[in-house]
Amino acid sequence: MTLTVAIVGRPNVGKSTLFNRLTGRRSALVDDTPGVTRDRREGEGKLFDLTFRLFDTAGLEDVDDDSLEARMRRQSEIAIEEADVVLMMLDARAGVTATDEIFADKLRRGDKPVLVLANKCEGQAGAAGLAEAFTLGLGDPVAFSAEHGIGLEEVHELLSEVA
Ligand code: GDP
Ligand code: MG
Repeated sequence: MTLTVAIVGRPNVGKSTLFNRLTGRRSALVDDTPGVTRDRREGEGKLFDLTFRLFDTAGLEDVDDDSLEARMRRQSEIAIEEADVVLMMLDARAGVTATDEIFADKLRRGDKPVLVLANKCEGQAGAAGLAEAFTLGLGDPVAFSAEHGIGLEEVHELLSEVA
């Protein structure tokens, strides 16, 4: 069975940057079913020795036919259902927001392994946000940078355990 990994989180935290890094943009839109799957991109992710199916939850910024919160809830529900592992990303420079808490609440109630990626942690600007991310109750957050490739070893470690 192919390992399935989903990247979830509010807009602008860096999900697509990570998706592109792991897939090398070998990706396609899932389909255009209104409201759910058009928001998602699927690709073949590669990280060191591992290959997996990767979902990015994209496009929330561009739609206005439903509340953002409702759409995010639905996406995290789908991620919990379909993924073997969920990568929950937040922007450590912005700190933990109410929207991040919505995702965390949902994921805490699920039974899938979750790794919290405190993104934009290159340099010092993410230090406070990284510390805050412990309060999400989803285990130790990873000091991460999707742009600079920091923290990928921790992602690999979790994926290896589940694969
Ligand atoms: P998404 O909306 O969650 O998919 O976020 P994007 O991947 O589109 O990134 C949103 C913004 O954050 C872009 O301007 C990225 O260049 C920036 N970004 C992504 N990863 C990092 C990172 O590791 N460090 C910093 N400083 N910026 C990042
Ligand atoms: Mg995106």
